[in-house]
Amino acid sequence: MNQELADLLFPNVTGTPEEIQALYPKRNRPVGSMVTRFAPSPTGFIHLGSLYTSWICQTFAKQSDGVFYLRIEDTDGKRQVENGIQMMIDDLHSYEIVFDEGATIGGDYGPYIQSERKDIYQVFIKSLVAQGLAYPCFMTKEELEQMRNMQEAKKERLGCYGKYAKYRDITLSEVKEKLQQQLPYVIRLKAMGKFERTIEMKDAVKGKVKFPENDMDVVIMKTDGLPTYHFAHVIDDRFMGTTHVIRGDEWLSSLPIHVNLFQVLHFNIPKYAHISPLTKKDGERIRKLSKRHDPECAIHYYKEQGIPADALKLYFATLMNPNFEQYYMSDRTATIDEYQFELSKMSVGGTLFDIDKLTSLSRIYFSRLKASDLYEKMLTYYEEYDSEFAALLKSHRTLSIAALNIEREVKRPRKDLANYGDMKRQMWYFYDSLFEVEKQKRPLVIRDCYQADFLKTYIRDYWCETDDKDTWYEKVKQCAQKFGFAKTTKEYKEQPDQYIGHIGDACELIRIALTYCLETPDLYEMMNVFGRTTVEHRINDFCNSYLK
Ligand code: GLU
Repeated sequence: MNQELADLLFPNVTGTPEEIQALYPKRNRPVGSMVTRFAPSPTGFIHLGSLYTSWICQTFAKQSDGVFYLRIEDTDGKRQVENGIQMMIDDLHSYEIVFDEGATIGGDYGPYIQSERKDIYQVFIKSLVAQGLAYPCFMTKEELEQMRNMQEAKKERLGCYGKYAKYRDITLSEVKEKLQQQLPYVIRLKAMGKFERTIEMKDAVKGKVKFPENDMDVVIMKTDGLPTYHFAHVIDDRFMGTTHVIRGDEWLSSLPIHVNLFQVLHFNIPKYAHISPLTKKDGERIRKLSKRHDPECAIHYYKEQGIPADALKLYFATLMNPNFEQYYMSDRTATIDEYQFELSKMSVGGTLFDIDKLTSLSRIYFSRLKASDLYEKMLTYYEEYDSEFAALLKSHRTLSIAALNIEREVKRPRKDLANYGDMKRQMWYFYDSLFEVEKQKRPLVIRDCYQADFLKTYIRDYWCETDDKDTWYEKVKQCAQKFGFAKTTKEYKEQPDQYIGHIGDACELIRIALTYCLETPDLYEMMNVFGRTTVEHRINDFCNSYLK
């Protein structure tokens, strides 16, 4: 009877499970190597959470010399967008998420797009029907709704189980009759589990998890002949040789169903790692990051803000295993690739995504780059977002690198840059053409101690580009003293009426005249980068414009 039913429902499916098994031999991989996958629907969008998940999957495959592949889960037609797959691959590539095999790339375990695997799923669905482990269900939308309403009213569990599984024992002749009437149907699993019985499993992230056996006759094939997520997941992860199913913890509650499916199909169960969602602080409460409400959920946001992909990944690494941060901070040559991540060290609850924290990591990331590398990265960014500034960078390569090199490659490198945009925002005064425009917009407070004579004398008689820093400072002090500045703040504080200001004020004046800014990188280095012509020109110009 069951075989007859299976043939009736799937007259064209002639393959056998054994034949399929033979097509997908076990992967020949070293012990301990992990086969992971990223399995999005082709919506065209990669949001922050999915980027984080894909990065985790890639990291574990990479560090174990394993395989990382891309599977497209397109059995839900509603979630498809034209070119969606390519758009997603491109976005992932911009964060250096690349696959060893998968959709559009190829590999021995494909096809990697679920809609192209219909034949494979149906062989197994037919086989389950033939074994009496699955059956067609003709419940209409209205019937399903009624069932739901009744369960809600009685405060019972929702779903198709026990007495609610109306077609569980449908006879062959009833099926024939319904098929003749061309009524749509789905295929449901005939669940054998008992809700009262508990299964215990080990999740690689959550640790020990306990849940009731599955007694739900879940849909495994929809009316269009395509499988549901549950069924496709089990078949695909089995035949694609996934060792670790790393996925969002919204799937944790479906685990009983998946375990049940692995059991009825006699497949080994892979390891599961359910990762908690990214959350954010919203006033007093902590909530999940939302695609709709949070701009920072879109990965383009980071590109536009000029946050380097590498900085975002450093933050991901910190979120993934908190010990990573200590490792990274303690050694300026530390890299993500050398760190051994562990699933068991991942957060069990929500993972708080804090933009400020990302920004501070980004500062450290920038501070550790060599000036010439940073220059190239800056150029790439500005070529995309600000072609005028990119042109300046290009025509002033040496100056730009020298400016970026100030207080770099030292014990405590400068951390003023948090994103690519900061370079123009903070370093415009290195470029004469920008300086001329920008300085007009800077309101200056001219203090009494600002004196043209001091500035001009200092530059003419004291400043020498070949002096080392200590000599430079000594000379600033000598000159400043001559013009009535105290050599130290302490001296000034002791007798404020004796002086027009102190050495700090004298340096401030030089700094302001050269940059119109109160805060800049190291003045000594900066003056050397400007060179005599620019320094003299700017000092004279400033004196003529503002000082007597
Ligand atoms: N298509 C599923 C999703 O986007 C994949 C879940 C999984 O990785 O198994 O949530």
